[in-house]
Amino acid sequence: MMRRLLMMSLLCLLTGNALADQTPVRVLATFSILADLAHEVGGDRVVVTSLVGPDQDAHGFDPRASDIRRMSQTDLVLANGLGFDPWIARMVAAARYKGRMLTVSDGITPLMADAHDVHDEQRSAPHAHATDGAADPHAWLDIGHARHYVRAIAAALADIDPAGAAHYARRSFTYIAQLDALDADLRARFAALPAHRRTVVTPHDAFGYFAHAYDLHFVAPAGLSNEASPSAASLAMLIDQLRQLKVPVVFFESFADERLIERIRQATGARRGGLLYADALAKAGPASTYLGLMRHNADTLIDGLGAP
Ligand SMILES: [Zn+2]
Repeated sequence: MMRRLLMMSLLCLLTGNALADQTPVRVLATFSILADLAHEVGGDRVVVTSLVGPDQDAHGFDPRASDIRRMSQTDLVLANGLGFDPWIARMVAAARYKGRMLTVSDGITPLMADAHDVHDEQRSAPHAHATDGAADPHAWLDIGHARHYVRAIAAALADIDPAGAAHYARRSFTYIAQLDALDADLRARFAALPAHRRTVVTPHDAFGYFAHAYDLHFVAPAGLSNEASPSAASLAMLIDQLRQLKVPVVFFESFADERLIERIRQATGARRGGLLYADALAKAGPASTYLGLMRHNADTLIDGLGAP
């Protein structure tokens, strides 16, 4: 028995990180899209949970005591940053979390809300991120930034679990190849849209990065988070502008309040476009993975914008 234990510890020493070979790395992501990316990179060496689940809004998330307790069972916390999930800092402090924390958007150049959204200064209601200089947090909606997220996750996992470094490198390489292929496909398809079919109306201002990547123009009655609603005056201005632009279609978003966008649709006489996913994966169906979500959004937009 003693000899066997000795043999096992020797074996463990030889393989580098003994624990990692037996116990998966426990990853806690702030929201479902990060959880999916971590799962893609980590495969069976990780167990990933998400604080904000599919079809749920991370902007207004209010952690429960059980969420904070869960952090004592965590090796790596993944946050988006840029004001999307600021509540994670309070959780880390409350749980006295000593493990690794990665803010995946560190190192990217964020879009500022004003740079891509002409309506921002017309809103009288301050949105949730007004105090942080209004960086747009929805960086994952540019596949280029998702690539950055994946590389950062792979590096953090390899750091925590060095014995798995080759595994994480291999999996992230394969996944990034899929991201690149999708990106190239979307570029080609959006490039084929004529200039007068590039205005997209959505409930909340989540698609700045997507617009930037594929040369589209998004307008939204609500701000960067779902929490602020526009004043009657700014809504009237938006409706006016959409009438002038003859925008033929408006799109809906999973879990966003439909009433405002439906009012805009009726006032402008636009058609109902499909459902877009911005801040969370779908529970089931094609948008239940990040790759699927991006493809679904592109299909829905091209269907809606391209229709006569
Ligand atoms: Zn959002």
